[in-house]
Amino acid sequence: MGIQSTAQWTSWLGTGRSLFLWIHVLGIGCFGYIVAKRLTPLLRAQRDPRFDYPLARLGKVLKYWLGQWKHPRYRVAGTLHILIFAGFIVLAVRAFSVLIVGVSQNFVMPGLSGRAGPIYNIITDYAATVVFLCMVFAVVRRLVFKPARYAVPARYGKAHTADAIFLLALIAILMVADSLFAAAKAAAQAQQSQPVEALAVFSLPWILRAVLASVSLPALGKFYFDGYLLHEVTFYFLLCYRPFGIQFHVETSLFNVYFAKLDREILKPVRWGISDEHLDQVKSFGVKTFEDFTWKHVLDFYSCADCGRCSDNCPANAVGRPLSPRFIGVKARDYAFQHYPMFGHAGNGKALISNVYSEDEIWSCTTCGACEEECPLLVEHIDKIVDLRRGMIDDGHVPQSLQKPLKALESRGNPYGKMEKKKADWTKAKDFPQTCNVQILNGNTDVDTLYFVDSITSFDDRMQAIGRATAKILDHIGETFGILGAAEKDSGHEVRRFGEETLFMALRDHNLEAIKASGVRRIVTADPHAYNALKHDYKDVPPVEHISQVICREVKAGKIRFNPVENKDGVYAYHDPCYLGRHNQIYDDPRDVLDAIPGLKRVEMARSRDRSFCCGGGGLMMFYEPKEDQRMGVMRVQMAAEAGANVIVTACPFCMVNIEDAIKVAGMEGKMTAIDLAELVDQQMNRGMKARAAEVCCHPEHSDGSEVPRGSETTADSLSLRSAE
Ligand code: SF4
Ligand code: SF4
Repeated sequence: MGIQSTAQWTSWLGTGRSLFLWIHVLGIGCFGYIVAKRLTPLLRAQRDPRFDYPLARLGKVLKYWLGQWKHPRYRVAGTLHILIFAGFIVLAVRAFSVLIVGVSQNFVMPGLSGRAGPIYNIITDYAATVVFLCMVFAVVRRLVFKPARYAVPARYGKAHTADAIFLLALIAILMVADSLFAAAKAAAQAQQSQPVEALAVFSLPWILRAVLASVSLPALGKFYFDGYLLHEVTFYFLLCYRPFGIQFHVETSLFNVYFAKLDREILKPVRWGISDEHLDQVKSFGVKTFEDFTWKHVLDFYSCADCGRCSDNCPANAVGRPLSPRFIGVKARDYAFQHYPMFGHAGNGKALISNVYSEDEIWSCTTCGACEEECPLLVEHIDKIVDLRRGMIDDGHVPQSLQKPLKALESRGNPYGKMEKKKADWTKAKDFPQTCNVQILNGNTDVDTLYFVDSITSFDDRMQAIGRATAKILDHIGETFGILGAAEKDSGHEVRRFGEETLFMALRDHNLEAIKASGVRRIVTADPHAYNALKHDYKDVPPVEHISQVICREVKAGKIRFNPVENKDGVYAYHDPCYLGRHNQIYDDPRDVLDAIPGLKRVEMARSRDRSFCCGGGGLMMFYEPKEDQRMGVMRVQMAAEAGANVIVTACPFCMVNIEDAIKVAGMEGKMTAIDLAELVDQQMNRGMKARAAEVCCHPEHSDGSEVPRGSETTADSLSLRSAE
């Protein structure tokens, strides 16, 4: 007689079939109840329309969830996660069919009854083995190697290490139970000279079968049944336990990725579904209590895997500011679990600021986007931080140092409180008007391009040089352009990220009117913050370009050519401004321009492109003195030095302020310099080319458009330009 099937098994408890049926009903019932409870805060949260573009969303699921796209950015943890995830996907069908076998002994998953069955079993044997080994490795890693990013500083609460280890152990037990069940059955079949179910060589079931080979048949029957029972109980326990901790992401991550923002660069409005014109009807702005978050934000909290990658890349965290994006989510999730309990009354509407988050924590963010870029589950941090700021502003909690610039923005349209009529003073610098005529647009001037200067370049003495360099470049390439002068107010980019939506709207509306009145067909700016505002925060403006895009195009078209660099000892490193790189994916154009300058030696910093390290200038940070151990700019300058650079090139006036300041603070004057891309281009431009460029220029003021380019070099691409020198 062979071993009994799990369904046939009998004892004083009844039959196996009835026992497992009860386990199923209990397990599914408990899970359903827990999930319903976990859904309560989502149902009470604010609306967020994320049900559009199903195909684009499915594409995200395929790339980021199924394809695990971001995981390899951390090689060890990423590989581990990919292996575990792949194992789970493979084992999902098996888990389902194993569960049914308890109540229906001959059940075979449709499609697995023929030859596919043994092949699938072999694959699942290996999958279970890989997942088991990954669990062992993950436990050892957490206990012995302890990656720094998993540590929990005391101010953020307790570490979840015990919880993580417990869950890893449960998954390992599940794999062992599944393998024991299969191994005992195969060993019994062998002892009875029956056809033996094939087990994958060197897999966990294969090893267990070898161990059980000499065990008696009745004992094998017990191993078979106990293995199955352990599998069932562990499976349902895991299912019901996961929603109480970080492993809840196993259930929620698919939905979190599906509902992730499709246009991450666009900031969340104050209230979804309420237009700007009707904002005065909104009683309370931003997030003040947990219930002010949107349902997607709550889903983010549930989906965070606590992997620490966001905080590992957060510059605010790196310099010791009281902000770690990981804990923005973890603390909110803990709050949700506490205030939306499994039994009893839900929600208490407590203020989040000072109960869950500190004011400094929320003001410390530069909105650089490094956290969002890194998160494998596409958790959104910036919208939540800005919403929390909106709430604080609404309650009148404005940091002291920011009150003056905000008042100045309100009254004068710039944070420095300068007179509007001085806005174009940068064009009056000594000798500049003789080399470049910058028109002030008044609606009667027929020009193609508006150069949107923005406050920092207009009023900061040092940054005005960037404005003049930009104007000279536009002039050199034959662009008809002008500025708004006194009619231009601050773009409001920082104001919006600071949470002052009403002031932002006033600035935006004023600028929109001025831009419309100017009649321009396109806009160019050298300020990535203005670029981001015009491109994503404003509506119905002519196409916008950053000057680095314009330069790159003109270099490739042969309209800009460069003299070789004179500084032969110069080693240049390009610093990606957050609002040009991460927020707008302009990484290559500035680099292509640098690489087109003959003799320029360029190195990459370890943290560059989408992992660039913020200089510390975003989100009105220029006017805010956060608590920190050191400046972000200083860290950035040190990174450039480590890469072997002695010149930092950037393409943003905010970066320039911070980096030049940091060079002084770090005591690296004389060893390190900083220059804006526009300044470098202006400095290196071969002005002898201007006449020839005009001949090939299509602009009606410079050419009739029928000229044949003189000289093949004018159409060479940037790389051949460089190599030709
Ligand atoms: S946006 Fe930047 S500063 Fe803000 S939390 Fe994310 S990584 Fe940190
Ligand atoms: S938010 Fe994303 S990156 Fe940060 S800890 Fe959670 S899962 Fe990891």
